[in-house]
Amino acid sequence: MNDFIKGLQPLKCLVALAAASLIPSTLPAAEIVPLPERIAPVVPDRQDFQVPDRVQLTGWLGQRIQANEANRLVKLDAARLLEGYRKRPGRQSWDGEHVGKWLHAATLAWANTGDPALREKLDYIAAELVKCQMPDGYLGTYTEDNRWRSWDVWAHKYNLLGLITYVRYTGNPAPLAACRRMADLLGTTFGDEPGKRDIIKSGPQVGMAPTSVLEPMVLLYRLTGEPRYLAFCKYILRAWEQPHGPKIISTLLTTKRVDKIGNGKAYEMISCFNGILEYYRTTGDPDALQACLYAWQDIVKYRLYLTGTASYWEHFHDDYDLPNNNIMGETCVTVTWLQFNAQLLRLTGEARFADQLENVVLNQLLGAQQCDGAAWGYYVQLEGRKPYTSNLDGQCCLSSGPRGVALIPTFALTTDAEGVVVNLYEAGTAHLNLRDHTPITITTDTQYPRQEQICLAVGLAEPKPFAIKLRVPTWCPNATVKVNGQKLETQRNGDGYVVIQRQWEKGDRLVLGLKLEPRLIAGDHSNLGKVAVMYGPLVLAADEALLGKTSPAKKQGPADPEHAIPLNGIAVASPELAKLKVTPEPAPKEFKTWPGAQVFRIRAVTRRSLPNRPVGSALDIRLVPFADAGSTGARYKVWLPLPRELYSGNLLLDGQASHSRQNTLEDSMTDEDFETFVTTSDGKLAAEDWFAVELNQPVTVKRVLFAHGKTLPDGGWFDATAGKPRVQVKRTKDGDWETVGEITDYPATTTKNSGEMEGGEHLVCKLPSPVQAWAVRVIGKPASGNNPLQAFSSCAELQAFSE
Ligand SMILES: [Zn+2]
Repeated sequence: MNDFIKGLQPLKCLVALAAASLIPSTLPAAEIVPLPERIAPVVPDRQDFQVPDRVQLTGWLGQRIQANEANRLVKLDAARLLEGYRKRPGRQSWDGEHVGKWLHAATLAWANTGDPALREKLDYIAAELVKCQMPDGYLGTYTEDNRWRSWDVWAHKYNLLGLITYVRYTGNPAPLAACRRMADLLGTTFGDEPGKRDIIKSGPQVGMAPTSVLEPMVLLYRLTGEPRYLAFCKYILRAWEQPHGPKIISTLLTTKRVDKIGNGKAYEMISCFNGILEYYRTTGDPDALQACLYAWQDIVKYRLYLTGTASYWEHFHDDYDLPNNNIMGETCVTVTWLQFNAQLLRLTGEARFADQLENVVLNQLLGAQQCDGAAWGYYVQLEGRKPYTSNLDGQCCLSSGPRGVALIPTFALTTDAEGVVVNLYEAGTAHLNLRDHTPITITTDTQYPRQEQICLAVGLAEPKPFAIKLRVPTWCPNATVKVNGQKLETQRNGDGYVVIQRQWEKGDRLVLGLKLEPRLIAGDHSNLGKVAVMYGPLVLAADEALLGKTSPAKKQGPADPEHAIPLNGIAVASPELAKLKVTPEPAPKEFKTWPGAQVFRIRAVTRRSLPNRPVGSALDIRLVPFADAGSTGARYKVWLPLPRELYSGNLLLDGQASHSRQNTLEDSMTDEDFETFVTTSDGKLAAEDWFAVELNQPVTVKRVLFAHGKTLPDGGWFDATAGKPRVQVKRTKDGDWETVGEITDYPATTTKNSGEMEGGEHLVCKLPSPVQAWAVRVIGKPASGNNPLQAFSSCAELQAFSE
């Protein structure tokens, strides 16, 4: 044990708390006092990070925080978390990250709930993990001959983050020695001195994965005061700028674009940003903050989904390139984006970062967490199904999600130099200490985001002048503030907050009214012709579980299959908000995920003919918050099409789609969405593949549009060497397929070359003369790409038109 640890004082101490709380029964017996750092930050925080025991939330968020603790973190199998360390190698290359992520999330969750069962598990897992450390300090899941080649520094990063958090908040200093040994091993292994390894080459994503160890190395430097840990951080910044490095800071300072950094991999990159901000806090290097602000602006403007996540195929892409599925919205990206905003909020005190936090928490984060907290989704897309699982194998996101939820109490209500700052509105109690150590209790009574009125009651021992800063969300043009019943004229300050500076007394009541209204977001770029509906802070989605049982008189229960409407069968009734009559109502049983849960009635029309409903039939449907969408397992979508007559004349909309080597039941070939696609991939070769739509009545076809699905490394297109794909029709219901045309537009592809197609390209075949058709299909030879042992093709959309 080193001198530093020996000198530690007991950490959990009784702090005299004001006797003036409005609900004294909720006062904690003791406050957690984090282990102090030896190095003070050069840049003091504008808003203070709150230890999670200070802020107890009891509404919707509170319920999700409780569920995260009780149904996920306490229940996770300790042996599974430690398995790869106890018996190396781990079952999977990044399996080592889970235990450190768990330690981080579980420590914060325990600090919030005080659950002795979780504390016992924390102590056990931290001690057992440390026992697995090798004599030289190595604490990864690789065998000795395979060290430092893949996700090895990465696992050390999470072990450092998890154990440092554990040490600081539990008061058990024992694992700090293990952290020092890990950091010392990294310091003797990697560096730019002769004989040391290059950290960029030690792991994936152009070295962004291993170098994201920057964040805990800065934390360890501040905690221990060891200059060599700061020296290592400076080495990482130099390593980034090598010719083969990701050039994170220099790219941001010159291009201001995140998609130009390294290989654009989002999770590892934002993890590095979070390290850069910790480095900025510690050193004051102005370039570090400026680079991160450029990254934030670039993501918000060009690369952020409506629900507060980023990336598809786990990477940042070109401006506005934001497909609604296509494996978008990795939960690790959601959580690191949340952390990035929380860091920027602490450092700058600007409400714009808290606005992003509300958006990501209430929409994408809660949408990724199963309502009962027991499972998480990896890719949580704007349309599709929620991929909830509780199995850790290969699922980085399963350990990231709980970290995001456990962080909510650290920024929901906080303090700054002037007083109290309220960032999130939620029922609960916050026991905050002003910077002069005056204890203040804020008790919030609201059912926001169901309820417009938010009542904050102030508890303190003696009258005292200070400010309460309220975040008025940017989506809310009309906010009202009353103090003790008296209305105040308010406006946002330079930092974006509404500030109420006065002499506060015990029992003062502050009432904020945030007008909750529907908003229509017009789709652009790939969502052109669609709209998304928001209500207050909530992004709404259509959910197939609520379609087809829209009569208010009808009893609640599962959707009636006889009258169920497919998700692709509906459009919003109008592009004008007023005509949609968006109206909240209490959620039906299956969506009653918290007492204030609501669904939102909206005018819609059918966009295909359905039993008893011709095309264009008016009906009411109910939208659900994105957080609850898909929670019954049904399909959902955020971006909803405008009425069919506004943008299409597709004759195949009502047809039954199928394809050769059918491997999915999703009817994405007729949803008028050029991003969703089907493939014929089954790992085998085939002479020909086809994509077809069959109809219940004949149509007259003059033009056929085939949209390419997706170019993948091992195929996805048609090989045009021996001929372009052909258009075939059935002239009678049970007739044979007959070739009527060829897609001459189709590029000159080969089995290896996709002709520069990527996905969604429109390829048109004009027929020499109109043809009566009961069915239409496109047929051709599938391509193999880089794997000649198989071949497949793909289709995003098959459409036909009468002119
Ligand atoms: Zn992930």
